[in-house]
Amino acid sequence: MEFSKDNTSDRIAELRNMLNAACHAYYVLDQPSIEDSVYDLLYRELLDLEAKNPLLITDDSPSQRLGGPPAKKFESVKHRISLLSLDNAFNIQELSNWYSRVQKVLQLKNDLNQINVDLTLVAELKIDGNALALSYQNGILVKAATRGDGTSGELITQNVRTITSIPLRLHLKNPPPWLEIRGEAFIPNEIFASINVEREQSGENLFANARNACAGTLRQLNPKIVANRKLDFFAYTVHLPESWQASKGETQKPTNQLEALEWLRAAGFKVNPNTKGIKHFVEIEKFFSFWETDRKQLPYATDGVVVKLNDFELQNKAGVTHKAPRWAIALKYPAEEAPSKIINITYQVGRTGVVTPVAEFEPIALAGTTVSRATLHNANRIALLDLHKGDTIVVRKAGEIIPEVIRVLSDLRLPNAKRIVLPETCPECHSTLNQSKDEAATRCLNSSCPAILCGAIKHWVSKGSMDVDGLGNKLIRQLVELKLITSIASLYELEVMHLSNLSRMGQKSAEKLIVSLNNSKSRSWHRQLYGLGINHIGETNAKALTEVFPSADELRQAACNSPELITAIEGIGTEIAQSLKDWFSRHSNQELLKALKRVGLTLEANEAAIQSQIEEETHDMNALKKEVFVLTGSMTTFSRREAKELIEKAGGKVTSAVSAKTTYLVAGSSAGSKLTKANELGVTVINEQQLINLLPFFPQSREHSH
Ligand code: NAD
Repeated sequence: MEFSKDNTSDRIAELRNMLNAACHAYYVLDQPSIEDSVYDLLYRELLDLEAKNPLLITDDSPSQRLGGPPAKKFESVKHRISLLSLDNAFNIQELSNWYSRVQKVLQLKNDLNQINVDLTLVAELKIDGNALALSYQNGILVKAATRGDGTSGELITQNVRTITSIPLRLHLKNPPPWLEIRGEAFIPNEIFASINVEREQSGENLFANARNACAGTLRQLNPKIVANRKLDFFAYTVHLPESWQASKGETQKPTNQLEALEWLRAAGFKVNPNTKGIKHFVEIEKFFSFWETDRKQLPYATDGVVVKLNDFELQNKAGVTHKAPRWAIALKYPAEEAPSKIINITYQVGRTGVVTPVAEFEPIALAGTTVSRATLHNANRIALLDLHKGDTIVVRKAGEIIPEVIRVLSDLRLPNAKRIVLPETCPECHSTLNQSKDEAATRCLNSSCPAILCGAIKHWVSKGSMDVDGLGNKLIRQLVELKLITSIASLYELEVMHLSNLSRMGQKSAEKLIVSLNNSKSRSWHRQLYGLGINHIGETNAKALTEVFPSADELRQAACNSPELITAIEGIGTEIAQSLKDWFSRHSNQELLKALKRVGLTLEANEAAIQSQIEEETHDMNALKKEVFVLTGSMTTFSRREAKELIEKAGGKVTSAVSAKTTYLVAGSSAGSKLTKANELGVTVINEQQLINLLPFFPQSREHSH
């Protein structure tokens, strides 16, 4: 985020205060006040600002300290060897920058003559738990502590003794007088879920995530409760005395990280099995993307991949900063929640006149994509968020889900920032907006508002209704602004000479558009009805209604005089009947129907339309001809068998194995080895929604798209 000089020092101070407050809530109270990913990104913003303005760094900045102070509940203990944190990389580019830095440092210190030498690295999963320091004397566990501020932690030996995967006595014939283990304590997902269920039932505050539940448990005063919570532990580091050597026949003293993990396993620790020695940097990207999907199957939470130099000698040469080793870095998985800053609020007027406020904010990476706008739904939502100009907001986007603003970080609000309220007049036609008591939406009621007209025309010419080629959004806007069209009926009064002079329109495309418009007159009656854009009349309802009422006149008669005939249709209720009555009773709509008839639309079932429907269905039956699909993972809209039937109905083929002949791999959630194979073969991978969009016999596909 860019700030002027004065604003920079304000922003640094605000970030510092806010992050310190968050640390207190997180480390001392075990009740995080913001999401970890939001903390990480704001912390990163602070680091960036401080790096550019070193004079503004203060002693109380969270950048100057590691972790949190040991809480008062337990005795504090000084660590024999400090526990550091890890620097973060948020994308492969940042990881690659880290790698270049390490190479440079080592070249300087080690006289490596080739700067691009590929160092052996180790990639491990980053377990989202809490670091523990375990001290053994002559092979017996004597002390266990939290990380605390890295130098001292809380002594929680009694609690740690309840973790069954931590050996109380090491499997060593000749244990050293002392040794130190570092690793991650965690709560398996299933147990975390059941703890929260119990807490909910007993009216206690829920833990925000498994990591917090683990931290809270480790600091329980009653070891019996800890034992019930079934914590687990993965070891990843061992510190041994210089002089110690293994006995004959035992795993030798490790000289690198991979050997250390073997050593830990042999000594009786649980070591995460998903670790990989990396010879070439490029392999990390593969490891990272593989686990991006597969980590969701693991019974514990992970939030990234830790990349370490393998060789201990090189690790020593690379050294450490005051907070983190230079020889390791955590590459984090994309956040689903992140902070950003409001740049502007814009307003969209839809075809029904509903005014939707949209937050435009500084672009952020979320769940693998870049987002810079999110709907704010309506005035109530804005009020609930208490949104002000320039606010720092938290945006969430989980997987396929549309981004949303979940809250405002009011501590970071600029002084004198103005509260955001919906405008009183339509941003398109300037008529006064209407806020009825019965609904949350604010509406423009001016039926000749250009935005409403554009929306109505867009809907009328769309695929599911009149399917007119060559009439895109920009052209529609131009035609409306130039008043060349004033209703959907006037589309059919356009002539080549009106169109050919418009920007980016030649004689040929103008002629084509007129042909396309004329052809659209023969579309079936149910598509015409759908195209009118009446509230609640999607494609399915339009079909059901037109099967009973073969013309607009008959439907109007029933809607206005005998609604019971409408509600007698299966799936059609009173709300739909009311919506039809409202629409048909409006004078402007009656005029529209007359005008449509005048320009040649039948608004009834007719021979030509029936013929065109048959052709359309035949076309649909061949829509996926020659396409070979493989289905994997679970789907939410339909079962795999139903998906197979729908693909075959459209002429496609479904096979069970991915091969070079596969056109699409449809990956549902928890897709596994087939996804890897498809990626290797370069087969196009689509998700469930993309499959739905391809299926001509899936009615919702068209209803969704409008
Ligand atoms: P970190 O969790 O980002 O990374 C370092 C830690 O990773 C190590 O201490 C270790 O415990 C762990 N780790 C897991 N697997 C590992 C492996 N294979 N090898 C080595 N280490 C491994 O950083 P941190 O310093 O422990 O804690 C900061 C974290 O606390 C941040 O993620 C931050 O979001 C969170 N935090 C949140 C708030 C909040 O308000 N939400 C406040 C303060 C801190």
